[in-house]
Amino acid sequence: MFDLNGKVVLLTGASGGIGTSIAKKMKKQGAKLILSGTRQNILESLSLELGDDTKTIVTDLSSKEGIAKLAQEAEACFGQIDVLINNAGITADNLFLRMKDEDWDNVININLSASMRLTRQIIKGMLKRKFGRIIFISSIVGYTGNPGQTNYSASKSALVGLTKSIALEVAARGITCNLIAPGFISTPMTDKLSDEQKNRIIVNIPVNRLGRVEDISSGCVFLSSNEASFITGTTLHINGGMSMI
Ligand code: NAP
Repeated sequence: MFDLNGKVVLLTGASGGIGTSIAKKMKKQGAKLILSGTRQNILESLSLELGDDTKTIVTDLSSKEGIAKLAQEAEACFGQIDVLINNAGITADNLFLRMKDEDWDNVININLSASMRLTRQIIKGMLKRKFGRIIFISSIVGYTGNPGQTNYSASKSALVGLTKSIALEVAARGITCNLIAPGFISTPMTDKLSDEQKNRIIVNIPVNRLGRVEDISSGCVFLSSNEASFITGTTLHINGGMSMI
């Protein structure tokens, strides 16, 4: 079940907490991997750990040229991309009244526009081959909102409309397009929170713990598999029951 042998996966944010877990789990299921991020040393040591059929491409997703180059180089690695996981993301939190234009623009650019641009490139090959799996990593706060995260929540919420519209355009061509909306997951991103902040979050999670990166990567494996071919335009909420949307 959920065999990914022969599937080529392009993963952004592979150097991060959730990305590293996605890479490991996809590899375990037999996928060939192209790992992308900005930190070359981390990508290379992950690639070394995962072994054969793993390539790395260093790219800054804030640059349009960088994204175009990533798409071109990634397709050249194994001749095709079957699964695209748009996982890279950033935060730049502040109360709305104090939100700087720069923080708004950067977060929207990486979390939304870069994912759109990369997908627009990669989907061409998927349409030709009549097969593809596109996954965007959104967030619970894209559905619920979060004080101090107007930019981040807006970027993650916008991915919902993007996903549904792409899904409708390509559904008849063997391509599915879905979102995963993680709740609060223990990673370097959430390590920035104080213990007090974490405890306040856990009180609101019925499962009574923060999520683990593996909770998210399991969802990615499932949505990438042949078994998920009838699931498109939807969001897989992985949040321990924090928000039963
Ligand atoms: P993370 O550890 O901070 O990783 C973020 C990843 O994004 C890194 O690999 C980073 O690459 C990449 N990235 C950031 N800016 C980039 C840029 N300009 N160009 C290329 N790559 C860039 O975060 P995470 O917790 O694993 O989050 C992964 C995804 O899950 C994000 O989309 C996040 O919004 C979402 N999410 C996380 C949580 C959570 O609780 N952790 C909850 C909901 C949703 P480099 O480090 O190499 O630059």
